[in-house]
Amino acid sequence: ATPTALLVGTGRGAQLGIVIKGPEVLESTRAVDTVVLDKTGTVTTGQMALVEVVGDPGTLRLAAAVESASEHPVARAVVAGHPDPLPAVEDFAAEAGSGVTGTVEGHRVRVGRAADVPDRFAGTIAAAELAGRTAVLVSVDRAPCGVLVVADTVRPSSAGAIAALRRLGLSPVLLTGDNAGAAAAVAREVGLDPDAGEVVSGVLPEGKVDVVRDLQARGRVVAMVGDGVNDAAALALADLGLAMGTGTDVAIEAGDVTLVRADLAAAADAVRLSRRTLATIK
Ligand code: ADP
Ligand code: MG
Repeated sequence: ATPTALLVGTGRGAQLGIVIKGPEVLESTRAVDTVVLDKTGTVTTGQMALVEVVGDPGTLRLAAAVESASEHPVARAVVAGHPDPLPAVEDFAAEAGSGVTGTVEGHRVRVGRAADVPDRFAGTIAAAELAGRTAVLVSVDRAPCGVLVVADTVRPSSAGAIAALRRLGLSPVLLTGDNAGAAAAVAREVGLDPDAGEVVSGVLPEGKVDVVRDLQARGRVVAMVGDGVNDAAALALADLGLAMGTGTDVAIEAGDVTLVRADLAAAADAVRLSRRTLATIK
């Protein structure tokens, strides 16, 4: 390979808002045939809004108090949905990909994915997930007391970008810790088929890297696009890791490429650019 041509490729990349860690990264894009896409913050903006609160009075206040200690998109939506000053939280703990717990006014409050859905909230949760939303259960001293529903927005460019990735010969897979309903709704909006194995949902943070490893074990050459702390290991293991520029520092450090524009279209640009660059030096 001519280093000059590779460097020209990386220079052109910078103009397109694609920051490539080193010229050797371009080489790994050549054989990529699968692209794993994180949902929240990658295919979607990750800027969630609180759209529904169901349950006992005080549910939102207690939940927002605990979530004030978390940086998760769900947490930001819940905190933004409660205007008043919040009570203090003690002994805060986050369970990655699942939820948060903390002590508020002497009570142990948990907000997160429901392991068991109480009958009282089953309807709300099912309807929310069917609509592509994320519902989290609030419990006080282990007793479920309410449900908060948050809604995310698909990035306007995601559907076009996924079509472009397909045209480049890449098979897309949506990967998320979120529920199957929300995942399927987002998938359909961007032209992915949940019935054709293009969606993997309910994955714990440490499970994302396993999905990449399984694909590689089946002979796939995998690009991964992600933004979160929970995407870092998968970004590092992938043959090509692309981090959203709006993502967490750990994700950016783990990736080979940073998409400054935080737009999935740049992922297709990155693949196209490196293939072109490599073609000129062959
Ligand atoms: P993704 O893979 O889509 O980026 P995460 O793995 O971060 O999602 O989270 C998976 C699920 O865990 C969320 O959809 C939510 O139900 C729950 N969760 C994670 N963090 C929190 C939090 N701070 N508050 C409430 N729920 C949370
Ligand atoms: Mg994410």
